[in-house]
Amino acid sequence: METRQLTPTLTLFESQLFRTVTTCIHTNDYLLLVDPNWLPDEVEEIAAFVRSKSLHKERFLLFTHSDYDHIIGYRRFPGFTTIASQNFVDNPRAAQQLQQARDWDDEYYIRRKYPLTYPVIHRPIAGEGEKMQLGQDDYLFYQAPGHNYDGLLTFNRSQGILIAGDYLSNIEFPYVYHSFAAYRKTLATLKGLVASGEVRILITGHGDAATDVAEMELRIRESVAYLDQLEEAVRQGTDFDLEALFKRYDFPGIMQKFHAKNEALLRQQL
Ligand SMILES: [Zn+2]
Repeated sequence: METRQLTPTLTLFESQLFRTVTTCIHTNDYLLLVDPNWLPDEVEEIAAFVRSKSLHKERFLLFTHSDYDHIIGYRRFPGFTTIASQNFVDNPRAAQQLQQARDWDDEYYIRRKYPLTYPVIHRPIAGEGEKMQLGQDDYLFYQAPGHNYDGLLTFNRSQGILIAGDYLSNIEFPYVYHSFAAYRKTLATLKGLVASGEVRILITGHGDAATDVAEMELRIRESVAYLDQLEEAVRQGTDFDLEALFKRYDFPGIMQKFHAKNEALLRQQL
């Protein structure tokens, strides 16, 4: 696991699996932990860090969405106030998400000292642009369906930190499990936030954070271009330029499967 302290109040942990990112914002008065994951030793390292930073502070645990890699560490952090979208709470696929986590641990003989359960959410976010104050920091939340059913964008406006969940990765093209139309709408929300000039750090669920606006804009353009190219190929019945895609992205074996799933879903949704 790689640990990177980006600012005095922001630390990122990157799992060795799928480069999945755990975000921790730790100020004088509160701590916010986001999507703690994957392997037991990695989760323990995060827990030790959290312990060192959160004595006598309010502690919050947020889930960007319910994909099993993002909820797998939930029960290691009891006593935290939990935050996620209302859709996360209402998710009709909650049981399947949890089962995927259990199957994954089973497949790799993973032993954890805590059970795997679907997170109970204390503060569900139903609105668009909903506000919340954590400690002295102002937060804004936006619904982010598309990648999956229940994504949530978290914007710490006081510190300019935007936590995007599985959008705007620099190592993955868009993975669309839920809806192409919704995915494009979420990209538009992200574009608006970046265009406001208030985002100083963009954190993605897999890969590197972006700290300059040109890089954030590039990622938005790349996501839109991928969706456009896929849509054109499916509509026209032409071949998608896979060679070009895998010049840009590093893991052609697995990623080809994700691309094929995208294509199959888009055929249904066009
Ligand atoms: Zn993910």
